[in-house]
Amino acid sequence: MRRTRTDVRRAAAALVCLLTQFAVPAHAADAAFQQWLQGTWPQAQSLGVTRATFDAAIRGLEPDLSLPDLIVPGRPERAQPGQAEFVQTPGEYLKESTFDRLAAQGRKLAVEHRDTLARIERDFGVPGNIVLAIWGRETSYGGTRLAHDAIRVLATQAYTGRRKELFRSEFLAALKMLQDGTPRERMRSSWGGAMGLTQFLPTEFYKYAVDFDGDGRADIFNSVPDALASAAKQLAGKGWRAGQRWAYEVRAPQNADCSVGVPEVTLPVGEWLARGFQPAYGRKLSEAERAEQASLLQPEGAYGPAFLTPKNYFVIKEYNFSDLYVLFVGHLADRIGEGRPFETRWSKSEQLRTAQVERMQRTLAARGLYADKIDGKAGMKTRAALGAYQKANGLKLDCWPTPAVLEHMQR
Ligand code: CA
Repeated sequence: MRRTRTDVRRAAAALVCLLTQFAVPAHAADAAFQQWLQGTWPQAQSLGVTRATFDAAIRGLEPDLSLPDLIVPGRPERAQPGQAEFVQTPGEYLKESTFDRLAAQGRKLAVEHRDTLARIERDFGVPGNIVLAIWGRETSYGGTRLAHDAIRVLATQAYTGRRKELFRSEFLAALKMLQDGTPRERMRSSWGGAMGLTQFLPTEFYKYAVDFDGDGRADIFNSVPDALASAAKQLAGKGWRAGQRWAYEVRAPQNADCSVGVPEVTLPVGEWLARGFQPAYGRKLSEAERAEQASLLQPEGAYGPAFLTPKNYFVIKEYNFSDLYVLFVGHLADRIGEGRPFETRWSKSEQLRTAQVERMQRTLAARGLYADKIDGKAGMKTRAALGAYQKANGLKLDCWPTPAVLEHMQR
């Protein structure tokens, strides 16, 4: 009898193994997932998580295979619907009506939280409008309903996501948050597992969350002072320079060379101005501002607004590695303060598709003009490489990827 049962079990295990290799039917995935979860116990234990907390956290847990950024055998890769930064044009992502709405709300909140924001700026050197803008961008000032259970998201991403190792650490840190008293039902998150008003991953919670309202707990879920101070501490921790701006919008001169628009090419702001770049709205820059090292950013190549981006720009970029995200946060902060739109309007209504940008990146790489990721995202480095290609081939230099220039490359 026992022998038979063992055989059946062995056969079942072999079947599970076989099935997970090719396709993942629900039951097979669950068994393998449970096994994977159990395998995280030693690490969880070493972080101080008790067996009771661990068992409660993973009881009945199933992977959420509807999440983006997973690699599921037998299934085509899903796009990332949450990552709008790379499929929308700048004009779509940086929408005037959205800024109007969020800036109006932000101004009210700036009044409501005036003392807290002043204290944040004093303690961390980060302007109140910047952390308000992060709050506005991340969760519409707390109005966004976060659709996911963080434990399930992080476990799924660690189990079968594209960045397993990163998410394994996050999953373990999330278990520690449970152990340290954050209720499970409060741990709602985005599809990427970020939590709270300013969207922290669990490891960032442990690095940067602060108790700023003095109740003895760092609560990034319900306390505005705690969440905003934590965001400020994070920016400070990543190198925010007090008293400096996030970026300067500029008007590029006619003959500007857009192919130098990469983070590696920096000049003092004053040197860019000497080369013909003019501050938007005729803004006067101080000596200290002119002395800052900055790169050139032209999200629409030669067409839309141009920016000189100093250190603080790249600090915000560590929050989310997307130039459009940084422009959103930085501009919203300005908008709360000064109320003005971008001086130069966004003008492009179409963007190449991901597959086309990938083809362009491969061609540029093959010609030695591009050495970064082949990811279908037309970021700073891709646009600059495109500019180098245009220069080398006597084409119009605009650093803006179009079907025409892609066709030229493929001739
Ligand atoms: Ca608190």
